[in-house]
Amino acid sequence: MGATTTIKYEPVIGLEIHAELLTNTKMFCRCPVVDPTISPPNTAVCVVCTGQPGVLPVINKRAVEYAIMVGLALNCEIRETSIFARKNYFYPDLPKGYQISQYEYPLCINGWLDIELENGQTKRIGIRRAHLEEDTAKNTHLNDGTSLIDFNRSGVALLEIVTEPDLRSAEEVEAFARKLRAILQYLGVNNGDMSKGVLRMEPNISVRPIGSDELWTRTEVKNLNSIRNVARATAYEIERQISTYESGGQVIQQTMGWDELRQITVPQRGKEDAHDYRYFPEPDLPPLQVSHEWIEEIRAKMPELPDVKRQRYMDELGLGEYDASVLVADRAIAEWFELAVSEGGDPKNLANWIIVEMFRLMNKDGLEREQISEIKIQPAQLVALIKLVEDRIINNNTAKKVLATMYAEGGDPVEIVKAQGLAQETDSSVLQAAIEQVLDENPDEVQRWLNGEEKVEKFLFGQVMRALKGKADAQILGPLLNTALRNRHE
Ligand SMILES: [Zn+2]
Repeated sequence: MGATTTIKYEPVIGLEIHAELLTNTKMFCRCPVVDPTISPPNTAVCVVCTGQPGVLPVINKRAVEYAIMVGLALNCEIRETSIFARKNYFYPDLPKGYQISQYEYPLCINGWLDIELENGQTKRIGIRRAHLEEDTAKNTHLNDGTSLIDFNRSGVALLEIVTEPDLRSAEEVEAFARKLRAILQYLGVNNGDMSKGVLRMEPNISVRPIGSDELWTRTEVKNLNSIRNVARATAYEIERQISTYESGGQVIQQTMGWDELRQITVPQRGKEDAHDYRYFPEPDLPPLQVSHEWIEEIRAKMPELPDVKRQRYMDELGLGEYDASVLVADRAIAEWFELAVSEGGDPKNLANWIIVEMFRLMNKDGLEREQISEIKIQPAQLVALIKLVEDRIINNNTAKKVLATMYAEGGDPVEIVKAQGLAQETDSSVLQAAIEQVLDENPDEVQRWLNGEEKVEKFLFGQVMRALKGKADAQILGPLLNTALRNRHE
């Protein structure tokens, strides 16, 4: 071992995803699902979701419908009969002493999802299962040693999705995570907010020598509050495991947490590691039956998903693959773009302005792309701005400045151009006067141009543009300047 080893490793990664479903009520009772950051603790609870003796759970039909939608979107087989099971363990956030989940007979099995990688290739990731369960309550541990429990989350419908260990890099994990989140958002079954824990993704990671088909010891990483952190933690954990083996050590099977401050994974204490959940079929619930007709009914009303939308943007709107991929990557972006198109904007122009200029402004501001609906610029206003350029009222550079004003303060581009006097100067007598003045002020450059140094023309163009505060209509200015220079021959 040591410095002479030349083993090359490959990571083997699977993802376990928990998505709270956006149903109005909880999985097995009629308590409303509330936003934990708004509603006071323990205000949305009843005898069922606090685990009182003698109560009976009732399955939330909407939750089943949502789970089937996700299963269909992930190309799963939907079981017409699935079975709820008790997963027994004791923990303060679990009042019944067990969680109702699905174990041997989950609702959705054997699916797949294609992800697009940066090298332009597509990779198919297997989906082992997706099943329904209920969320636990939420513990808050205070510094003085007391712990508080909020049962508002107890019993909220939860969909657990488990992939096959088909992922081979942090990049693939990130691509999968982004695409899965987009699908959940498109379906309207989850809002994708990982920072609030309504969507949780936990990678399990091992490495092995390339060429081997053994599975080596794996670790699991929890408490990841963004997709970026899922990718970072995965990359870190891969490196940690490889360097552990390379230095002669062994990877221990354990649960890790992500220390965001130090950007490292750390062993996490928590529930005992040797789990024996003693699963058995839930005696209070009959097997879950879903008819073929109902599944087909759900399939028929599924919204357009990212892959189909991307193809449509390419086929019908004439977008390139890159632009189309960026715009469909998040439901909020696609909706914003489609609103702008419906306002009469040219799709290609819009895609360009959104992806290059608007995302640059948002990025500078620390906003994620999917926060597009929160910015001050409205779709119709971007369309109006582009029209000002097409009508040659303003040039491209001025338009970028107007966009920055719209972004910072909001407002209508036509008004901004008027108020700030930004309209393009198209009056050729004004342009002519500015040209003559600049040529008079730069006799050396004019002489160099006359001696055949053509590139000086660009400099002089810039000077005239500057004299006119960047507002000259370049398409008129160019030929006028050239003629003026030629006239200096005489
Ligand atoms: Zn309840």
